[in-house]
Amino acid sequence: MRALALDGWGKPLVLKEIPKPEAAPGDVRVRIRATGLCHSDVHQWKGDWPTERALMESGGVTVLGHEGIGVVDAVGVGVSELAVGDRVGVPWMNYWCGGCEPCLTGYPHWCDRTRTTSVTVNGTYAEYATVSERAAVRVPASIPDDEAAPLLCAGVTAYGALRRLTTELRIPPGKWVAVVGAAGGLGHLGVQLAKAMGYRVVGVDVGADRVRFVESLGADMAVEAAAAPARVQELGGVHATVVFTPTLAGYGLAASLTRTVGGVVAVGIPDAREGPIPISPWALLSRGLRLVPTSVGVSHEFAELFDLYRAGRVRTHVDRHGTLADAPALLADMAGGRYVGRAVVTV
Ligand SMILES: [Zn+2]
Ligand SMILES: [Zn+2]
Repeated sequence: MRALALDGWGKPLVLKEIPKPEAAPGDVRVRIRATGLCHSDVHQWKGDWPTERALMESGGVTVLGHEGIGVVDAVGVGVSELAVGDRVGVPWMNYWCGGCEPCLTGYPHWCDRTRTTSVTVNGTYAEYATVSERAAVRVPASIPDDEAAPLLCAGVTAYGALRRLTTELRIPPGKWVAVVGAAGGLGHLGVQLAKAMGYRVVGVDVGADRVRFVESLGADMAVEAAAAPARVQELGGVHATVVFTPTLAGYGLAASLTRTVGGVVAVGIPDAREGPIPISPWALLSRGLRLVPTSVGVSHEFAELFDLYRAGRVRTHVDRHGTLADAPALLADMAGGRYVGRAVVTV
């Protein structure tokens, strides 16, 4: 099969023929039709995350991508609900066990025996990819491939993050929340989802074009990162900040925007070489600041997100389209902040 494969950390990805994967017991094989490009792909391509890098090396994983959508073309032994011809998404979470403590307490996102698309299993920058029947995402027919692909990571991750404002931080609708990195793949969906949940939203990004785009998404206030602390101070601070930006600067900004007894939802994963999150224990304790991590999403979160999508409360902005061969240039443009929303390529 044709795949865009890693050929050394940070070196140009190479379009080449590699063996087509088989559907193992419990898995389905999907003929990928389109895949979204995630900022995580950039970090994985460069080898910025030591844990993922080691897992990819030990597992021989060379194909990035975890926002794949396509059609089931083979089913493994024991698959009972999906059949050849079903349209599904291949997300970041390739498998969770359903039986470990994180799974049983409602957090399969941190399953002890998880498998991860593009980290422990080859990803979706290829004609075929495999996923467990449990983790394969049933996507409503009314959402076209290019709009659906970015929902498989960006959408569900943004949804899961915003959901924690009510489930974990108990912030009622009507309160102010800030979205840092509001023009990006996750952030642009995050702004719309926060509005759909009834919050008042400060969207923060860098550059006039990106701030204008954030305004067009319905943010109540759209502001440059440098101006954000002063503007947000006029509101008395926000009740929570969701950090989508994969840089430590985003976390530092979040701590300065968030009011006493507020919360910071951690989503963006910086290059490991940037070091730890710059929030002092003093800031946490003296201000009662709560830090809540979140990570992608599972079946019920997809279902809730798709409901909002079909109700017209959120729309994917696909800024760039291309083919698999265009993916390297599009990844470079994403790293440089040269487009808003998402890029999607056909396979
Ligand atoms: Zn992703
Ligand atoms: Zn588990």
